[in-house]
Amino acid sequence: MIHQVSTPARGVPLVVEGLTKFYGSTRALQEVSLEVPQGSIFGVLGPNGSGKTTLLGIVLDILLATRGTYRWAPGLKRGALLETPNFYPYLTGRENLAIVAELRGRGRDRIGDALTVVGLDSYEAMPFAKYSLGMKQRLAIGATMIGNPEVVVLDEPTNGLDPAGIADVRELIRGLRNEGKTVLLASHMLDEVEKVCTHVAILKKGQVLSQGLLEDVLRDEDRLEVRSDDLEALQALLQKHPLNPKVQPGDGYLTVAFEAGAMKPADLNRYCLEGGQTLGHLVLRKKTLESRFLELTD
Ligand code: ADP
Repeated sequence: MIHQVSTPARGVPLVVEGLTKFYGSTRALQEVSLEVPQGSIFGVLGPNGSGKTTLLGIVLDILLATRGTYRWAPGLKRGALLETPNFYPYLTGRENLAIVAELRGRGRDRIGDALTVVGLDSYEAMPFAKYSLGMKQRLAIGATMIGNPEVVVLDEPTNGLDPAGIADVRELIRGLRNEGKTVLLASHMLDEVEKVCTHVAILKKGQVLSQGLLEDVLRDEDRLEVRSDDLEALQALLQKHPLNPKVQPGDGYLTVAFEAGAMKPADLNRYCLEGGQTLGHLVLRKKTLESRFLELTD
């Protein structure tokens, strides 16, 4: 049973609260809560099987949640691409979109605009079969534009494309933002989310591990392992550091995380010494986004 939650605040097209979904005994989502801000490109990032498609299916009213709520801002128009549509190979891009508009019973006057938004206006008279992989996918996204939606939902938009097609579609998605659209997309590719999204939610086994602005969630950081004879005093000293690092106790040492490039080991050493702590161990462990993502999802 889906209960309606309160109307999202202005500027928040979609609010999801506590969504849980079971397929029989398989739990695909557990207490997922999200807020998708207006004008964002919001990426749901997670490995295969983490529940991304289930989440999109629920908020698009295709699947029923077991528990939890979601609410779109009232009157919002949505377009969605969950599976690649079957276009007719011998018909042109324009003719294919005309069929989509006909089937939906609306948007016949929007075909030219939809082709322009996805950058296919110069190719509208070309048969679909002659399109590159990237153009085929752009046409599929164009089909979601027919009702001139404010929000576009895309599941793995670059799956199955060649590198040129991937670049092409990513560029298109970034461009949708300039059209004032909000995009909610699912991807298992870290670099995709990193390249196109403004916001991200990391999903692992149906749970949101972390969400927010891309640079906050996937911030590159440098970690330093440090040890002195008095770990407690060292921890207290590090927590007072003006750069406000994250300090975590390890097994016989502390891990101190700074924003990438913000702290040189020699400077940290001096800071500790001046604070009365002589370091017996100091190692810099650079973290890439990749390793951070693996750490979040392993
Ligand atoms: P993702 O999109 O991240 O790959 P899915 O939402 O497709 O993840 O799947 C999440 C989990 O739910 C997986 O364990 C998957 O096997 C399971 N699942 C998805 N759809 C069904 C279904 N129709 N019936 C049973 N289990 C399903």
